[in-house]
Amino acid sequence: MTESGTTAPDLNRCPLCDAFARVKKSEIDHLWTVDCAVCMRFTVDDYLMNVIRQGREHRDDRVCRLLPLLSQAAQDTWETGGRLNLAGENWQANAHDAQARHATK
Ligand SMILES: [Zn+2]
Repeated sequence: MTESGTTAPDLNRCPLCDAFARVKKSEIDHLWTVDCAVCMRFTVDDYLMNVIRQGREHRDDRVCRLLPLLSQAAQDTWETGGRLNLAGENWQANAHDAQARHATK
């Protein structure tokens, strides 16, 4: 991967809903912990964080259309007393589950 001039990623925006959020990376387990007023608290692994950043940057529909669902999934998990841990291998499943739960049509 090549750096294209952007050395510091935006650490103050929720990767899911783009609201102001506190985003912190743990150097121990390499997970990003996000505290967002909308999505509450969830974690994102390093791989997925890059997928989301690139998806947003390139307006990749495969990523962007899932972000509101992931935001919903994080809220749902929080409401039931859990914390959503998003990773490269589960984010699409989480998005689809949230979509199924909130399907109105
Ligand atoms: Zn959010």
